[in-house]
Amino acid sequence: MTTALRNFIGGEWVESSATSHHEVVNPATGEVLGQTPLSGAAEVDQAVAAARDAFTTWRRVPPVVRSRYLFKLRALMEERFEDLASSVTRENGKTLHESRGSVQRGIENVEHACGIPTLMMGQALEDIATGIDCEFVRQPIGVCAAITPFNFPAMVPLWFWPYAIATGNTFILKPSEQVPLTAALLVELAAEAGLPPGVLNMVHGGKDAVNALLAHPGIAAISFVGSSPVAKHVYTEAAATGKRVQALGGAKNHIVIMPDADMDQAVANITESIFGCAGQRCLAGSVMLAPGKAYEPFREKLLASAKSLKMGYGLDEGVTLGPVVSARAKERVTAMIDSGKLEGAALLLDGRAGAVADYPKGSFIGPTVFDGVEPSMRIGHEEIFGPVASVTHVEDLDDAIAKVHASGFANATSIFTTSGRSAREFRYNVGVSMIGVNIGVAAPMAFFPFGGTKGSFYGDLKAHGHDSVQFYTDKKVVISRW
Ligand code: NAD
Repeated sequence: MTTALRNFIGGEWVESSATSHHEVVNPATGEVLGQTPLSGAAEVDQAVAAARDAFTTWRRVPPVVRSRYLFKLRALMEERFEDLASSVTRENGKTLHESRGSVQRGIENVEHACGIPTLMMGQALEDIATGIDCEFVRQPIGVCAAITPFNFPAMVPLWFWPYAIATGNTFILKPSEQVPLTAALLVELAAEAGLPPGVLNMVHGGKDAVNALLAHPGIAAISFVGSSPVAKHVYTEAAATGKRVQALGGAKNHIVIMPDADMDQAVANITESIFGCAGQRCLAGSVMLAPGKAYEPFREKLLASAKSLKMGYGLDEGVTLGPVVSARAKERVTAMIDSGKLEGAALLLDGRAGAVADYPKGSFIGPTVFDGVEPSMRIGHEEIFGPVASVTHVEDLDDAIAKVHASGFANATSIFTTSGRSAREFRYNVGVSMIGVNIGVAAPMAFFPFGGTKGSFYGDLKAHGHDSVQFYTDKKVVISRW
């Protein structure tokens, strides 16, 4: 048995007392990479105690000094860039190119958080009444925690803790038990950057650790990214104990291809959106809505483009489609494809028998394309989270927008068109928070807010951007007369 990972509490790597473990498996090769301890309430309690202790001094460290730890971390991440990217590929399965992109986006969050002395400033106004001045300052709120998913092992944790610690809070990360290794490497780098003990802690585990975090009275705020049912649970439970919560959930993203679109550009972008990261992205295109004359040419070109993908181990040269994260995920996606067929959609390209000769133990699913998908079908309204595209004919832009609105999710949506009028109509009317115009993946940018609406997001303030600074600080208003 490979050794169990350790928790990071109060600046020390400590053995978990967990009696059960989750096996971390390379989804391409089947190699066992480690054992994630499924820690429980006692370890969460120790981490909260360490973080609370560190908070008393960390909050007094000047913001400009706090940001210097992040400058140092950024330099270390650049130095270890390839190690981080290959770690993501090994535990998650995405291609090395995709992993590098995600690590780069993670670095951008660290860079953005380095600007905290400016980002955290308050406001002041003299003479709100004669001789009386008013100001507000931002203060950290205490111990904050994040619970993160398997699909972006480096990037998603970095949406949260750099901002939280830069604003003077202390932190507990509970990474996905499926991909704990990259998170551990990043915590190692943070320690190497000299972060004082207790400022950043990491507790490995699954739902017991999550529930302990949600219930703990010593935690002020919870950030969550994962599936919608768990997002809703996290939102409800954490709010019930008085915490701030931002819970980013699942998605079912629609892409509209107008007849006037540049079809080659659209197909290239959309292929990447659907099949990139094996479809395991909350921004992945899922349902393609093609009005009128766009429908047939788009469907044929998409099919050809899907067939041209090269499936394999993400560390190998030229691979454009990696495996899904686990044998269990493969079973789940395969069952969704079965259901699409049973419910009457036309299966134009079937990836269920997907296999790569050199990696017989890999959890591969080939690119899959359905035609004639209706919103009533499971594949038409549930999140698939695999390399599966659904193509649907619609009447016109209004019909397409109505289909987008019929979804219970509202994370991201895109339109491909050369008409400014159609693009404007779409962005103005569509009730989804993240929109792409001739862009297949409306990617998270560190300096803008990120998060959906409806069943894709539970909370108020979104991830990173200025929202993050607001989420992790309280606005204290002081009125003075001298
Ligand atoms: P998941 O919900 O299974 O797990 C996410 C986290 O919650 C993990 O840390 C896990 O340990 C914990 N967890 C799982 N089940 C739990 C339970 N019953 N009670 C308490 N905690 C529990 O999600 P996943 O499979 O790791 O990630 C994929 C999902 O994340 C997809 O739905 C995807 O759309 C979503 N996602 C959303 C965004 C976004 O920005 N909205 C970004 C990335 C991923």
